[in-house]
Amino acid sequence: MAFEGLAERLQNTIKKMTGKGKVSEQDVKEMAREVRLALLEADVNFKVVKDFIKKIKERAVGQEVMNSLTPGQQIIKIVKEELTDLMGGEQSKIAVSERPPTVIMMVGLQGAGKTTTTGKLANLLRKKHNRKPLLVAADVYRPAAINQLETIGKQLNLPVFSKGTDANPVDIANDAIAHAKEEHYDYVLIDTAGRLHTDENLMTELREIKENVDPAEILLVVDSMTGQDAVNVAESFDEQLAVSGVILTKLDNDNRGGAALSIRAVTQKPIKYAGMGEKLDELEVFHPERMASRILG
Ligand code: GDP
Repeated sequence: MAFEGLAERLQNTIKKMTGKGKVSEQDVKEMAREVRLALLEADVNFKVVKDFIKKIKERAVGQEVMNSLTPGQQIIKIVKEELTDLMGGEQSKIAVSERPPTVIMMVGLQGAGKTTTTGKLANLLRKKHNRKPLLVAADVYRPAAINQLETIGKQLNLPVFSKGTDANPVDIANDAIAHAKEEHYDYVLIDTAGRLHTDENLMTELREIKENVDPAEILLVVDSMTGQDAVNVAESFDEQLAVSGVILTKLDNDNRGGAALSIRAVTQKPIKYAGMGEKLDELEVFHPERMASRILG
């Protein structure tokens, strides 16, 4: 289950505050120290933790809390609000171009879940938004990647545009968009190449595609279980490509939540969706407030 370890620790810490008729500065200090340790253990970025704790402390020793009849409850509310804020506050919507199709580039490192997520997102756009999506196989370096997207397309009964491994990714993307216009598709989801590490060749290729297709969104797919590595990957993709949003995968297996709680604060880019399982309908719109509730119980 997502965030299980972190949730358990934070809930234990915070429960001590519930029902307190009076809260001293010392109580707040102790709670803040425990929350800090829990977040660091969950692999949340050091600076993010520092800023977070500072805000909690400032608010918790404020007049509104200390003079309240239920200070313990007030403090829990503050932690929840700040956690929500940390994950972006409001839910972030997917772009829709005025003139269809809306082009979305899916980017990320190999193994992060990019191809699966491309299928999941197309499925969600069709089911939830009633849109007609076209999947595009632009990872020409790995024949297995094209096959994988085609298999996913078959499972979902969605079309996959492919030109095999000999074509150039920019041409594939351009041809796919032309095809989508003719056939009145609403969304074009381009599954781009991934590598094991960020490298210059990959970034050059992705930039070329970006310049040619002018996407409405560049969604970075990262594996939430990799914690701060995911955050570093996000920073480097963002520097090179200016991504528009993040999709966190494998949140169902992420016990700690370090990436989920750091990535927004570090990159300033919204988390748009979360992968909650291997199945193709297990992609959820990311709701910061619901996530915060999940953590605090
Ligand atoms: P790519 O190399 O980035 O295209 O990654 P894939 O789409 O091939 O996914 C890699 C592995 O992660 C596959 O076994 C997927 O089933 C799995 N995966 C992707 N998203 C999720 C998720 O949200 N939860 C879980 N549990 N597994 C996922």
